[in-house]
Amino acid sequence: MPVSPETPKSAALFERAARVIPGGVNSPVRAFRAVGGTPRFMDHGRGPYMTDVDGNEYVDLICSWGPLLHGHAHPHVVDAVRQAASKGTSFGTPTAAEVALGEEIVRRTPADEVRLVNSGTEATMSAIRLARGFTERSVVVKFAGCYHGHVDALLAEAGSGVATLAIPETRGVTAEQTAQTVVLPYNDVAALEELFAQRGSEIACVITEASPGNMGVVPPRDGFNEHLRRVTAQYGALLISDEVMTGFRVSPSGWAGLDPAGADLYTFGKVMGGGLPAAAFGGRADVMNLLAPAGPVYQAGTLSGNPLATAAGLANLELATDAAYEHIDRTSAALQGMVAAALFEAGVPHKIQHAGNMFSVFFFDDDEQVRSVDNYAQARTQSPVKFSAFFNEMLARGIYLPPSGYECWFLSSVHDEKVLDRINDALPYAAGAAAA
Ligand code: PLP
Repeated sequence: MPVSPETPKSAALFERAARVIPGGVNSPVRAFRAVGGTPRFMDHGRGPYMTDVDGNEYVDLICSWGPLLHGHAHPHVVDAVRQAASKGTSFGTPTAAEVALGEEIVRRTPADEVRLVNSGTEATMSAIRLARGFTERSVVVKFAGCYHGHVDALLAEAGSGVATLAIPETRGVTAEQTAQTVVLPYNDVAALEELFAQRGSEIACVITEASPGNMGVVPPRDGFNEHLRRVTAQYGALLISDEVMTGFRVSPSGWAGLDPAGADLYTFGKVMGGGLPAAAFGGRADVMNLLAPAGPVYQAGTLSGNPLATAAGLANLELATDAAYEHIDRTSAALQGMVAAALFEAGVPHKIQHAGNMFSVFFFDDDEQVRSVDNYAQARTQSPVKFSAFFNEMLARGIYLPPSGYECWFLSSVHDEKVLDRINDALPYAAGAAAA
């Protein structure tokens, strides 16, 4: 039975928004450009569900792009924020909650020390400045398809929204700003060796997503992160493991808990803010102590360590127990199985890839293209048309997927059997639409 939810209020808001906000959204992927249709303006969320301004309810499979490890409006997180807000929203002085969140991050991860910031972008930008300050070198190496936020020097061949919108290069980023950025293919050990052999003494750092989720989910091949660790150490460059997406999501300590290759610096965000703006970068004490005021590398923020954000982050992490991760891992495996079964049944060529409990689905135009996806060039052979047909049918049936084939699906500790049943009811229709 075809269904199509009514969305007049979302449509009206989108029109209003477009008059005052470029493209009608405050982050490009929200505009549904890759999949078409009216972006849904959300009114509220509860657990694994969110409801738009027209009253349509959706199973949420983006979880705010990762932060909501325990679903929407979890009472423990909401209470923590409420209590913090009642004491004052910001002081511009140190607070006890910042110390507690810093301690919790250090306890869970390999980082010796952390500095809190407001977004993943700030975290990677600051980590790079710090790596350059420490090594007194300038070249930054990144991998094609990895997204590290909208830092000028890192927007070269970035994944996520840049990939979704097929933007070849971002206007406004000058050649000078990316002149010191070298982009390598992901999972390519030979390319890395060659670059270091030629320019090793110029390289300040290699930044990599701990396990990439911004070109779809493309995990590191066995030993790839270890190789990065070895080569950077050999040449005196720092390794920055970007755990903004994976951190506290795929295990209590993030990707580092699943693949202990190690790094010099780490960046965190999303889950550690509990849905409020908080992020961090951290790592080796000798490197971190170069930061002002301890050292000469300047970095600052009016709202860094904000009391509401730190309270939400701490509350989110308090709920992030082993049992919570076991539940998310199980639910994710079950959902991947259901998606695969529906797509096989409908004869849709596809490949599902996962990194811990994060996963994404690559749709292909024909069976010959189906293969394991190891890098950005391969990720770009996916079929946007099939993805879009699948996405829109799921949306029409109340299942909210990431609106791009380059993004990862996120679950939470409150996604349960009931949710899986609802998704399973929608899947045959969506698979049928992708097959057509
Ligand atoms: N690094 C990674 C791996 C990310 O996935 C993201 C955002 O999706 C960022 C950095 C940037 O974080 P933010 O959007 O909070 O600036």
